[in-house]
Amino acid sequence: MRVFKINYEMQGNKSFTAGILAENKDKALKFLKKTVGTIKRINSISSSDTDVHGIDDEIVKRILKKYDKVEVVKEEKTVNEDKELQNKIKLLESENIEKLKEKDKHINKLNNDINNLTSELESLRMDGVKETVFICNICDAEFKSKVGMKQHRTRVHKND
Ligand SMILES: [Zn+2]
Repeated sequence: MRVFKINYEMQGNKSFTAGILAENKDKALKFLKKTVGTIKRINSISSSDTDVHGIDDEIVKRILKKYDKVEVVKEEKTVNEDKELQNKIKLLESENIEKLKEKDKHINKLNNDINNLTSELESLRMDGVKETVFICNICDAEFKSKVGMKQHRTRVHKND
């Protein structure tokens, strides 16, 4: 691992010098091309006489931080997007529940109305029936028709 000093030319004959820490010359060039884009010409490459044996912690941290940031931002975004989606789903679900509750209320009210009407009709019908009840004058038994009452009298009170 050494520091490579690369002098290169870009479009418009502008020349630059870059210092890149890399394992070898090829990797240093590859990194430079990846970082700056199209290079018109490499003028010179020289490396420091001494191999690099250590990198200060601060620089390592800076490099790691740079990568961390990229990763963290990516993750946070997906997590937030997930949360947003989940919130939307929850909202829709609760809206549906409210709607269903409203529907239930409406149905209950309708059922109540139907029950009230039915019992009202029932009592009206009962009133009608009561008016035409025939009662046996011997034992007070009730009959729906005059014929029924007469049959009862001839059968039950035959000997009376
Ligand atoms: Zn009777």
